[in-house]
Amino acid sequence: MTPKFSHYQCSLCGATYGPDEVTYTCPKDGGNLNVILDYDALKAKFSPDKFMDLPEASLWRYLNLIPVEDPGGLGTPLRRAGWTPVYQPRRLAEKLGLQQLWIKDESPNPTASFKDRASAIVVARARQIGAEVTVAASTGNAGAALAGMAAAVGAKAVIFAPRTAPPAKIAQLIVFGAQVLLVDGTYDQAFDLSIEATEAFGWYNRNTGFNPFTAEGKKTAGFEIWEQVIRNLPKGSKPLTVFIPVGDGNIISGVHKGFKDLQALGWLPQMPRIIGVQSEGSAAIANTFNQGDEKIQPVSANTLADSISVDLPRDGVRAVRAARETGGTYLIVPDQAILAAIAELGRVGIFAEPAAATAYAGLVKAVDEGVVASDDPVLVLSTGSGLKDVKAAMQAVQEAPIIEPTLAAVKEVLS
Ligand SMILES: *Cc1c(COP(=O)(O)O)cnc(C)c1O
Ligand SMILES: [Zn+2]
Repeated sequence: MTPKFSHYQCSLCGATYGPDEVTYTCPKDGGNLNVILDYDALKAKFSPDKFMDLPEASLWRYLNLIPVEDPGGLGTPLRRAGWTPVYQPRRLAEKLGLQQLWIKDESPNPTASFKDRASAIVVARARQIGAEVTVAASTGNAGAALAGMAAAVGAKAVIFAPRTAPPAKIAQLIVFGAQVLLVDGTYDQAFDLSIEATEAFGWYNRNTGFNPFTAEGKKTAGFEIWEQVIRNLPKGSKPLTVFIPVGDGNIISGVHKGFKDLQALGWLPQMPRIIGVQSEGSAAIANTFNQGDEKIQPVSANTLADSISVDLPRDGVRAVRAARETGGTYLIVPDQAILAAIAELGRVGIFAEPAAATAYAGLVKAVDEGVVASDDPVLVLSTGSGLKDVKAAMQAVQEAPIIEPTLAAVKEVLS
């Protein structure tokens, strides 16, 4: 094994713990734990052009920088998570008056969302520590990702999801063969229940903002943004501005961690500016950011973007810092703007679920308000496929006409 995993450090009190000393959050204050790598050893061993033993078209290309052992699973969907495409939709860039716009589309992941990154790494960690059953509470995508990644290697998964999750996500959970428990309550209630059950049954818990390895999976998107975009920016370019949709705050924290790892290795030319975007109906982290504070006050979440509908964000402090420490900010958008963003992205061939389109809605607002200028290079993270929530997609567009099977009817509609 490479000398990669040095220790954990609590994001609140700064206490450090050995890799096998703790499993989830800080025993002292419940703070999220950061995984600290042995940066000096890694620096001595690798360079930015030579750190990959596995030049795979997946997140496993970064195995030397991820604190797990190779989980195997070659030839399965576990090895296909990550390494998603970045598109350059010229028409959207022109419309927004931006010189450079990238959209990183996470829908080609094996279960069609960003969450495969975290679940792949947690499944690898579970194998390494000999955990037989892995459990997650999820609004849908994290559960589908865990169920799919576990199924890929024949491991057992238990998923707690709110019964109101979109049907496509529930179908994925069941088809992947997980033990599915639909909770008659909110995501937050499912979250707390899953932790009680984890303690009662001795399972391994993947929960977002609880298990420190989820951010280690999500940081691979930061590595990819570096490899696909940042390294190719011309010298003297302004820093890349990255738009990320935020619910629990673990994606934004994870991507920030990826950039911080690269910075600690001395491989990042310039820290990107990170902008978090939340729905008006679920804006606990943005509210805290705007108050200049770190203490997260829960809200009563109500948004059609189910994947970012969260009362009490579980990774809020690190999520606030991701924007604050990079010169970024938080933006709040209404559900109507999220629906409009689904339609805009659709017109350039990208089908996004509501939470995913939220990042683009944030970019539209940022351009309007002058938060980004035309010469800011911009990347929008579109975190999941529109096929996940077809009902919301249909709210974003006009219904198609139903016609008699005659040419006359076609002519009438087209006229
Ligand atoms: C989970 C999720 C998010 C938000 O991630 P957090 O870590 O909860 O902030 C955004 N988009 C999609 C599609 C998701 O599944
Ligand atoms: Zn602590």
